[in-house]
Amino acid sequence: MPQSRKCGKKGHFLKIEVDTRLCLSCNESFAQKGKILTEKITDAKNTASVSKDPTDIIKFWRLVEDHGSELLALHQLYNLQPSHELLDLIEAGL
Ligand SMILES: [Zn+2]
Repeated sequence: MPQSRKCGKKGHFLKIEVDTRLCLSCNESFAQKGKILTEKITDAKNTASVSKDPTDIIKFWRLVEDHGSELLALHQLYNLQPSHELLDLIEAGL
């Protein structure tokens, strides 16, 4: 019987996302939170790459790391393995 890995909801007719094995509502909230964090990481990374001031560069890389840990924690919360793309994204470039 299909069962959501996050909320534990199950049922013969429960729709489960194949990739995440989450029910649709868990999958939706994971996707929303993940998207926000991914955008913050991408922004901080882009800002770091165009900054000239070393202090700024360090500051923005810290942000990448901070949001990266949040994103990893989010994956753990939903019992998901972070993808390689994600690990590449949050890897600090210092
Ligand atoms: Zn669920």
